[in-house]
Amino acid sequence: MERVYIGLGSNLDEPQSQLRSALDALRQLPETQVTAVSAFYGSESLSPGQPRYTNAVAALETGLAPLALLDSLQAIEAAQGRERKERWGPRTLDLDILLYGDQVIDVPRLKVPHYHMQARPFVLYPLAELVPESFVLADQRPLAKLLADCPFVGLERL
Ligand code: ATP
Ligand code: MG
Ligand code: MG
Repeated sequence: MERVYIGLGSNLDEPQSQLRSALDALRQLPETQVTAVSAFYGSESLSPGQPRYTNAVAALETGLAPLALLDSLQAIEAAQGRERKERWGPRTLDLDILLYGDQVIDVPRLKVPHYHMQARPFVLYPLAELVPESFVLADQRPLAKLLADCPFVGLERL
């Protein structure tokens, strides 16, 4: 079993309900337990003119291999009506693998640690709720350093 952190996001069709449904779906995955969930956070979209986002982070213990987990996450996104029209377009649900145990993964379909997490307060602050203060990412970056470089700006703890 590996400890995995998943970033959840939504800015369409009742985002908080989307996140709750996604958490239920994660709890149904084979060989998987959801061990902790952060608070929900609201923030402005990074893309101008889009509705506000709701984000959270969930901690999982899973026996699913990284790409099998990615397949499962994409199936949950599809089941909740995720449409991919434009990159970073508005979405009912986004499920990203932030961290997968202490693995560094770099294959075309999957980059872990998630490549934008250090610039995203809506990822770092909910993650920080779930890990010890001394937490270090798989690529050796201390979370405290990433938090110090990424102010809690525009984030609303819901
Ligand atoms: P961003 O990656 O900036 O958060 P996004 O989540 O909106 O953008 P998606 O459209 O959800 O991007 O995913 C695009 C592709 O990213 C997926 O098809 C997937 O193969 C790939 N990908 C690479 N690394 C990861 C990861 N760590 N978690 C989820 N998807 C990933
Ligand atoms: Mg994403
Ligand atoms: Mg995604």
